[in-house]
Amino acid sequence: MQKGSMADEEPKFEHLGLDPRLLQAVAALGWRRPTLVQAEAIPLALEGKDLLARARTGSGKTGAYALPLLHRLLLLRRGGKEAAVRGLVLVPSKELGRQARDMLRHLTAFCARDIRLADLSGAEDAAAQRPVLMEKPDVVIGTPSRVLAHLQARSLSLQESLEVLVIDEADLLFSFGFEEDLKSLLCYLPKIYQTFVMSATFNEDVQTLKELVLHNPVTLKLQESQLPGPSQLSQFHIQCETEENKFLLLCVLLKLSLVRGKVILFVGSIERCYRLKLFLEQFSIPACVLNSELPVKSRCHIISQFNKGFYDYIIATDEQDLADPEGPPEGKRRKRGGKGSKGEKTRDQEYGVSRGIDFQNVSAVFNFDFPPSVESYIHRAGRTARVDNPGTVLTFVSPAEYPLLANIESALTGDSSETPLRPYQFRMEEVEGFRYRCQDAMRSVTKQAIKEARLREIKEELLNSEKLKTYFEDNPRDWDLLRHDKPLHPAVVKPHLRNVPEYLVPPTLRSIARPFLRKHQRQKRIPPRSNKGQKNPLRSFSSVKRRPRKSATKSKATPSGP
Ligand code: AMP
Repeated sequence: MQKGSMADEEPKFEHLGLDPRLLQAVAALGWRRPTLVQAEAIPLALEGKDLLARARTGSGKTGAYALPLLHRLLLLRRGGKEAAVRGLVLVPSKELGRQARDMLRHLTAFCARDIRLADLSGAEDAAAQRPVLMEKPDVVIGTPSRVLAHLQARSLSLQESLEVLVIDEADLLFSFGFEEDLKSLLCYLPKIYQTFVMSATFNEDVQTLKELVLHNPVTLKLQESQLPGPSQLSQFHIQCETEENKFLLLCVLLKLSLVRGKVILFVGSIERCYRLKLFLEQFSIPACVLNSELPVKSRCHIISQFNKGFYDYIIATDEQDLADPEGPPEGKRRKRGGKGSKGEKTRDQEYGVSRGIDFQNVSAVFNFDFPPSVESYIHRAGRTARVDNPGTVLTFVSPAEYPLLANIESALTGDSSETPLRPYQFRMEEVEGFRYRCQDAMRSVTKQAIKEARLREIKEELLNSEKLKTYFEDNPRDWDLLRHDKPLHPAVVKPHLRNVPEYLVPPTLRSIARPFLRKHQRQKRIPPRSNKGQKNPLRSFSSVKRRPRKSATKSKATPSGP
């Protein structure tokens, strides 16, 4: 007799013994079955075990800790326990706090009266959060420093009530400068509580944390590889001999719509963010920027709108990594609250966009500027191919960066003989016709223009996030209408760069390039869409069948070869 099929053996949420209201929420979220980390962690957590779970980013870690946490709190509520803060979720950044809160909100959608949440990681000052804490929310979410501030001010007390402590994205906590705060915070916790530590990597910091907060934990090392396999994540690199070639290649990829769907473009600094935005503006390609200078409310709004499908392109920095590529050496951890160097004043030390943020349905990540470390490559790449969606990473590499590329390749190759990074087939010589336009656009993006754009963006975003806060609270629909991808320097955009004349499109790409579609497409509000079934959204010359010569010669002009 045959054994039961694989489908029969697949774990189901209904078999995990969770509160029916949580199962309702899971169904409403459209989660059909638990991910690996959820299937492994939830039963152990429900047995009361401490957990140390390593699972790669985008694998459903939040659900893995949130469901057992909420289940336990619902049980206590049913037992008639009075209101008290029983769950504490510590996160390393404000964005991650907001994200955890949103997920917990979704999961408590059918028991919102029984479980109340408070996210302390937001922008409000601590005093404004006191009234919320007086109401004794069941779960408090926050960065260690903010939670510690409340514990010290006695606006929060956990000594008598805490049941479950969660440390999310634990590998980042210390490098984000929270080590001292976390250690101080532990003195305010009771002797016994259950702990879940979730981490994308097991580094030394996680080992230290393990000793500090976990008691006989079960360790779950779920995925050996930190990124999905080649059937889900396609990884490419392309050599760009000059800086100009990087801009040229990007311009062609976007202007000819050779990449489909949503793209995150990572750059190395805030200045580069605006340089690229202004460059794309020259071609009438709207993009948002995301960096630590923007107010946290704007950042979260940009991410949420991107997830809803408002924008195709985000240009992001991952400054936490850039500040210290190798991570701070022992004994030299970044101290919180200290004065940064000139220019750092306005930056938010709790910003970390490539780490853990749940950008949804991202088709491709472009490393326009080379990632500063292997870890950073992994975190950036982890923004695409989440859960079981496909995705692509394309890394632009200058000659000076070849040794760094080799480091990444060897780290990702591991024991296997084949590197997951393949060269991206693109014939630069066939797009030479774009070079003049590209140079023209690059010339328009002067240092002064970047400076002005940067100031203008901050001013506008501050206005959006502060002055209009009350208005938007009353008119949430208008909040949706607020866009972050408007031109920052519209006066200097050259109208002729907006359109791509047919003769510029290489004959080999004519069957797939869609230079005229973009503007039209973007002006519609695009509903959120999944990139499932879209195996590789990045089209290369190799993926295009050559047209017969006859049709090429028919065209007005053929791109000249070298
Ligand atoms: P996380 O790793 O917790 O950041 O989750 C990444 C994404 O996976 C989020 O958008 C979740 O909504 C989604 N997700 C989590 N669990 C599941 C599941 N069981 N089935 C489908 N999607 C899920």
